[in-house]
Amino acid sequence: MRELDSIERVGVVGAGTMGNGIAQVAATAGYDVVMRDIEEEFVESGLDSIEGSLSRLVDSEKLTGEESTAARERVTGTTDLTDLADCDFVVEAAVENMDIKQDIFADLDEAVPEDVVLATNTSTLSVTSIASATERPELVVGLHFMNPVPVMKGVELVVGEHTDDDVTALAHDFAEELGKETWESDDKPGFVSNRILMPWINEGIRAFDEGVAAKDDIDRGMKLGTNVPMGPLELADHIGLDICLDATQTLHEELGDRYTPAYLLKRKVEAGDLGKKSGRGFYEYD
Ligand code: NAD
Repeated sequence: MRELDSIERVGVVGAGTMGNGIAQVAATAGYDVVMRDIEEEFVESGLDSIEGSLSRLVDSEKLTGEESTAARERVTGTTDLTDLADCDFVVEAAVENMDIKQDIFADLDEAVPEDVVLATNTSTLSVTSIASATERPELVVGLHFMNPVPVMKGVELVVGEHTDDDVTALAHDFAEELGKETWESDDKPGFVSNRILMPWINEGIRAFDEGVAAKDDIDRGMKLGTNVPMGPLELADHIGLDICLDATQTLHEELGDRYTPAYLLKRKVEAGDLGKKSGRGFYEYD
């Protein structure tokens, strides 16, 4: 396994919300980053997001102009997975779908040297199942960043059935290099974070659908009542309703009826009302 001090180049698979955030924080921490998506337009949009986010950090004086430019220059985009061949650490943040993730890990196993750790940013899927698509399951670990990655401090370490202790320790140290703090979870459905968060969001949606309160009252009630920064409906919009539905469906399959997705969540995803990213979820966005 490559040690922390030999990591210079980081591969990121997926240039969406999480992938471009992970690429940004890795580049800001001084790593060279290769970010891969399946279409050129997704890669470009990921690079644009990084540029926008870095310039907001300059505006708020959290980064200097020079630091921002240097970070941006460290990220290259590609649609070719073999461009990750000289990476020393890889984080996968593609769509939350087991078949797609297993295909990606099988391809990464071919493309990337055998001593490189492959991490997945999955929210709910089994790290052990993802790892089973490779010949190196002991080098596969869950590195579950929170959204938005440049802002949120926490990263959940998910330890698969075959993950080596050294690999978990390396993932922890790597996350710290990116300025993050970690907690550890066993590879059980939803891990710590989403096993608890998703039913909270789901119940907020049900409460709204069943007329318990207006959406603002549900969100304000949870903020004022439990001191969280966002209520369940606001947070669902922020995460993406499609991501929430995928996660809740996985928990439902694994853990039974207490995780049944709210009817309104399914209806909104079917209608294409995915939250902030589509301009409308439970709230409207410019
Ligand atoms: P997203 O839809 O914004 O981005 C996913 C990207 O993956 C898309 O650009 C898509 O084109 C790309 N992709 C699909 N197949 C690919 C492949 N074979 N190779 C490379 N790229 C591919 O999704 P997201 O919100 O960034 O989520 C990504 C992962 O992070 C998921 O596993 C999700 O569960 C997890 N996650 C999401 C959040 C969140 O709040 N959105 C938080 C933590 C973890």
